[in-house]
Amino acid sequence: MDHLLDPNPDRLKRWFAERSQPAYRALQIRRWAYAGRARSFDDMTDLPKELRRAMANDFTLWTGQVVQHKQTNDGTEKLLIEWPDAHKIECVLLRDGARRTICISTQVGCAMGCVFCASGLGGVARNLTAGEILEQMLLLDRLLPADERLSHIVVMGMGEPLANLDHLLPALAEATSPSGLGISARRITISTVGLPSAMDRLTGSKTHFNLAVSLHAPDDELRNQLVPVNKNIGLNEILAASEKYFAASGRRLTFEYVLLAEINDQPEHARKLAARLRGRQALLNVIPYNPVSGLPYRTPSHKAQERFLEILRGASVNVQVRQRKGDKIDAACGQLRRMAV
Ligand code: SAH
Repeated sequence: MDHLLDPNPDRLKRWFAERSQPAYRALQIRRWAYAGRARSFDDMTDLPKELRRAMANDFTLWTGQVVQHKQTNDGTEKLLIEWPDAHKIECVLLRDGARRTICISTQVGCAMGCVFCASGLGGVARNLTAGEILEQMLLLDRLLPADERLSHIVVMGMGEPLANLDHLLPALAEATSPSGLGISARRITISTVGLPSAMDRLTGSKTHFNLAVSLHAPDDELRNQLVPVNKNIGLNEILAASEKYFAASGRRLTFEYVLLAEINDQPEHARKLAARLRGRQALLNVIPYNPVSGLPYRTPSHKAQERFLEILRGASVNVQVRQRKGDKIDAACGQLRRMAV
């Protein structure tokens, strides 16, 4: 059956035209799917009953099934969604002050192979479709009370978003559209392992999202070990592509650095990293490692974290530590799916 959320505006218009229905029906449907938070065609009460029935015969609003829904008392909620082919992905709603941020996935698994990350342990099974990416957004949006709206999106769930741009970009176009979720591109962040040709494609596109580039090491020798895909790319090329993005978009760049005890958290790593980042208009986001069962990596002690940060701050690098939200429900980094499969 046709997935209603797969972005393709002409399809609905055609469907209504074939049934001699006015063109505004397609807009009505859109309003119900987004602002109206309909859960089924039956909820779309300003459409004739027969039409609702006919739509339900030809289209499905949801293709996934929520097979697990976890929440913590800090307001974090996590959904595990199973698609008809039995593959599962996860997505998260985070509440922080007035912010309502969602974290979404773009692939089932991941092919990048970062040694410390749970998402890539089994490789990649497939890309998510644009409809599946959008479906995560709308399911999370429906967890909010009527007077609250999603404010931010981070594309930091499972998968490498820049390896699935063909499906991600149409989904994000619906997220930013005023008749979609209406979330400004300034409030949307895409996190990437750093794939320069795909970064160039974003540089050349007309909508500029925030870009977060995962570094995790100050030199290629260490980065090749932690982020194997780096062997074919290299930090110089990634930093050059990042600069181009910054020049075209004006968006402040973010670099991410997962801090792994005794692996990339030593003073020499901090000094080398500071040398690489000095003078760049960038924010360094340090993420203390969130342990993954079965993997040998550990979170650095508070003291080691502080020592690392001090060196960078001393070198005038703009640095912040990302708070760990949701780790009690394994909402951090690909873990729920791993336990559920
Ligand atoms: N493929 C994208 C998105 C990955 S998730 C990327 O590489 O950027 C977002 C961030 O979380 C990445 O920087 C990723 O390396 C990091 N991450 C993955 N597993 C983690 C873990 N167990 N603890 C802390 N950060 C982790």
